[in-house]
Amino acid sequence: MTGRVGRTGKTARGGSQASAGDLLELVRSGRAVTRGALQQMTGLSRATVGHRLDRLFRAGWLREGAGGPVDSPLGGRPAVTLEFDGSHAVVLAADLDTRHARAAVLTLTGEILAEHSGTLIVEDGPEAVLAELGRWFARLLPEAGHRPEEVCGIGLGVPGPVDSETGRVIQPPMMTGWDGYDIRGRLSRAFTEHTGAPAVPVLVDNDANLMAYGEQRVGYPDCAAFVLVKVSTGIGAGVVVDGALYRGVDGGAGDIGHIRVGTDALCRCGSYGCLAAVASGGAVARRLAEAGVPAESGSDVRELLAAGDPQAAALAREAGRQVGDVLATVVTLLNPGVLMIAGDLAGTPFVTGVRELLYQRALPRSTAHLDVITARLGERAGVIGAGALVVEHLYAPERVEERLLALGV
Ligand SMILES: [Zn+2]
Repeated sequence: MTGRVGRTGKTARGGSQASAGDLLELVRSGRAVTRGALQQMTGLSRATVGHRLDRLFRAGWLREGAGGPVDSPLGGRPAVTLEFDGSHAVVLAADLDTRHARAAVLTLTGEILAEHSGTLIVEDGPEAVLAELGRWFARLLPEAGHRPEEVCGIGLGVPGPVDSETGRVIQPPMMTGWDGYDIRGRLSRAFTEHTGAPAVPVLVDNDANLMAYGEQRVGYPDCAAFVLVKVSTGIGAGVVVDGALYRGVDGGAGDIGHIRVGTDALCRCGSYGCLAAVASGGAVARRLAEAGVPAESGSDVRELLAAGDPQAAALAREAGRQVGDVLATVVTLLNPGVLMIAGDLAGTPFVTGVRELLYQRALPRSTAHLDVITARLGERAGVIGAGALVVEHLYAPERVEERLLALGV
């Protein structure tokens, strides 16, 4: 169930101004997948549609659909369907957590071809971490059966607030040494150094944003307002509205972990009483340790929850209630169709706690069509979202013309 739904997605320009990029957008979104439908939707002549599609075919971006011909909207013979060729290039994606990272090679339609996850300590600083990601990428490409020259872009998720214009993190509480660092430049250099391939665009975004983007696109493409809350070492949220990430003016939208909830617990950001200081995976681990249960991190709590530890379950439920109290405001403001809980604490006890407070505190009208659920893509949501973000950026109508010209078509 996805709650109340509405059509989402970007609009391509119709009318006689429709470019090759607009036609590609119509095909990719599934709104027009035959020449006749493209003519109808744009008002372009048969010859102009043919000419623009021809460029997309020559670039290798479009192909004839595997589904075979369908009835033509213009009548007459069944029409050949068109589809985006998701295998003409690959995307590299990585998702950094504070002590762990995942990297993947993906097709342009989001299929993971090869992946690696392992220990990578964000506190070691951007130089060491991004160089290591370059090495991971270089090893993964042959595993995926692709050459470095086939990579069209790189997407990276980081556990901190990101200025998406510059790709730099802004005063991140959990990323000492990364403030203002040129992440894009260094990751691009690491890629070229370790693969010998030319530089490609690098996009950086917040980890919860990318998880939200990945989960929404794969599981809830018609949900017009989607919120994902990641509860691991810290707490963060990603918001997808009408199919696009909502980042706010400064990239700070969704950074709910540092809302004061009025206790005296010291937070990693240096303030007291933040939500993350009392209800994150790290906070639950601390309380378990105080009670004599060995736990240091959110992932330790995850393991205890999986093993059915009653103390971990009780504390996770209490943490869920505290987060649910804050989410009542979030839900009232955004009226989402889906509220998804992800990260180390995402499980029945925590979600039960969220529901208890949420339905008590939020107005019935803002929860009437709300589904409160746990994440579906698991650990892969971040890399899937990062890959999708790169593809949406590179194949956006406004960027297609320039890229086609660069390819000589
Ligand atoms: Zn804080």
